[in-house]
Amino acid sequence: MIPLSISAQDVYYNPLSVNWNTPFQTPPFQDIKPVHFLPAFTFAIDEAKQEVDAIAHLALPPTFENTIAALDKAGANLNRISGVFFNLLEADASKELQEAAKEIIPLMTTYSNYVSLNENLFIRIKEIYDHRLQSNLTKEQFILLEKTYLNFKRSGAELKDEDKNKYENLTQELSALGLTYKENVLKATNSYILHITKKSDLKGIPVQEQAIAAEKAKNKGETGWIFDLSAPSYSAFMKYADNRSLREELYKAYNSRAFHSDNADNSNIVINIVNKRLELAKLLGYQTYADYVLETRMAEHKDSVWNFLHRLTSITKIAAENDLKELTTFAKTNRPLQAWDWSYYADKLKKQKFNLDDQLIKPYFELENVKKGIFELVRRLYGLQFSLDPNIPIYHKDVQAYQVKDENNQCIAVLYLDFYTRDTKRNGAWMTSFREQYINEKGENIIPLVSLVLNYNPPTPSQPTLLTYDEMKTFLHEFGHALHGMLSQVHYQSLSGTSVPRDFVELPSQIMENWASEKEFLSLFAKHYQNGNMIPDAYIEQLINANRFHAGYAGLRQLNYGILDMTWHSITTTVDEPVEVIESNATSNTTLLPTVEGCIFSTSFSHIFAGGYAAGYYGYKWAEVLDADAFALFKQNGIFDKKTAASFKEHILSKGGSDKPMDLYITFRGQRPTQEAFLKRSGLLDLPDSSKNKPLNK
Ligand SMILES: [Zn+2]
Repeated sequence: MIPLSISAQDVYYNPLSVNWNTPFQTPPFQDIKPVHFLPAFTFAIDEAKQEVDAIAHLALPPTFENTIAALDKAGANLNRISGVFFNLLEADASKELQEAAKEIIPLMTTYSNYVSLNENLFIRIKEIYDHRLQSNLTKEQFILLEKTYLNFKRSGAELKDEDKNKYENLTQELSALGLTYKENVLKATNSYILHITKKSDLKGIPVQEQAIAAEKAKNKGETGWIFDLSAPSYSAFMKYADNRSLREELYKAYNSRAFHSDNADNSNIVINIVNKRLELAKLLGYQTYADYVLETRMAEHKDSVWNFLHRLTSITKIAAENDLKELTTFAKTNRPLQAWDWSYYADKLKKQKFNLDDQLIKPYFELENVKKGIFELVRRLYGLQFSLDPNIPIYHKDVQAYQVKDENNQCIAVLYLDFYTRDTKRNGAWMTSFREQYINEKGENIIPLVSLVLNYNPPTPSQPTLLTYDEMKTFLHEFGHALHGMLSQVHYQSLSGTSVPRDFVELPSQIMENWASEKEFLSLFAKHYQNGNMIPDAYIEQLINANRFHAGYAGLRQLNYGILDMTWHSITTTVDEPVEVIESNATSNTTLLPTVEGCIFSTSFSHIFAGGYAAGYYGYKWAEVLDADAFALFKQNGIFDKKTAASFKEHILSKGGSDKPMDLYITFRGQRPTQEAFLKRSGLLDLPDSSKNKPLNK
């Protein structure tokens, strides 16, 4: 046991700082209290720093083992504690834990700067990297070396002192600009309300939505109804309100956010951000910011992203034009449809074409049945078996902990399932791990501790949890990420499981969603929870067809955003034209509806200006093309085909980031991915275009 500096009398024993004598050394959640974290972090960070220093100042010449591999293993205790802390902060954050975070997060930032700014350490890393071609490293070691070197280099480690200062200043300026951008979007979003006082203006809007709007008005001390620019309120009004001029008003308010508005203007900030990003990229030796970002992505080069976007656009646009024709006919109007008409008519057309109510579908997707169905799917594909283990500690009474065994009855992972909403859990659905798989110094395989966190409604005394079709697909999606974590078989922790480029990480998850459209799979479990009847074939057909509704129009919108993102980050010289001019030039080919004076997207495109998606928005479509192409092999060989699954496991799921994504993919698929399967799945394949079968990344 290590010494602790805890003043609180009742805390003399810190479960975070001792070995865990639990099954598979899982975190002893029942003993861990929020008060334990800060002292444990303080100690573990010191320990990690000492380990890093020891590597940086080693008297021996640098080798892969004594530097790169050692760095991968450094800070083991810190990793162990971080794994628990940051996961609980998302899934079960008590007030005390949130308080602790305020002290712990700055400590962690200081620690990570301590490592990345360590000059001695970088000298050793570079020495090994420069001689990499003379070394006889394994493929995985080579990749780890490259990744470690690039991490340092891309954060300015190779720069001269004065350039290091420039780099520091630029990153600080960029993070301040990003923050202001985000604040402005928030301010602009909150500064507008649509206050409705005449009941007749609510025509078309469902009662539940009206009630929410009435509640909003009441909270502001007003009578009537208030709609605003928050996503649920905005989209409900645009979808349902019969009053066209109010839709127009709301549309214009939403789509001009932070654009030349008095106290929240992002138009100059956008220009400022892209120019500074370009400067940063050039400082580090790249031609554009996109080149800098894409260097560590599966796509690798901006040309492959541009080619990808252009090829898909040419096909998708034809489909989108057809969607527009169909909707115009349906709307029976003489004037052209405007942007504020689209969701309104599309909602009605969709209802007419696919009259599928969630309430009809949900009884067939009872949560326990769905879980069993997914377990059965991965048993057939990968030979996995799941057994509930009551001896594994859990952090909340609703969490289930499973031992995951392979065909030889060997436990290869622990899987936690945390299904239900609660106040201490953030929104959304995600996969995470308390510990990743790796091989330790003694050559022992350390099994991963993987967790799925979802936000389903808890069961009631009279009804179990019933999922919508989309919620069922979310479970499949997250389970795919979990497989990536659970089936990992790499040597080094930094390359384990989901530690792969962002445009590759959604392949294992999205491919799983394909099974949701397969009758053979659904028939394993989609039984009515009361009478046990199978889901009718007609429902399945409808669900699959509804997936394709307006695939052209929706796809073109995504491509439009991807192109706008790439335009901003492909500039090679600083720009000074107005933001609206650059945007309208970039998007003229992907805009179908009449453009609206004063409306713009760049000033509220937080994904790329205040999130992590700069030069990465294309990734959404890229991953769809990839998962469709990969699933096509299952379709060809059978959706439960063991051989195909074994190959997917061997070449993709078990490999983590231990090889280049495109190489892994080609080994699995036997060829580069093409967009054909994606187009087929979206119902876009029969459209004329000669370039549709060109492979990705070319
Ligand atoms: Zn995902």
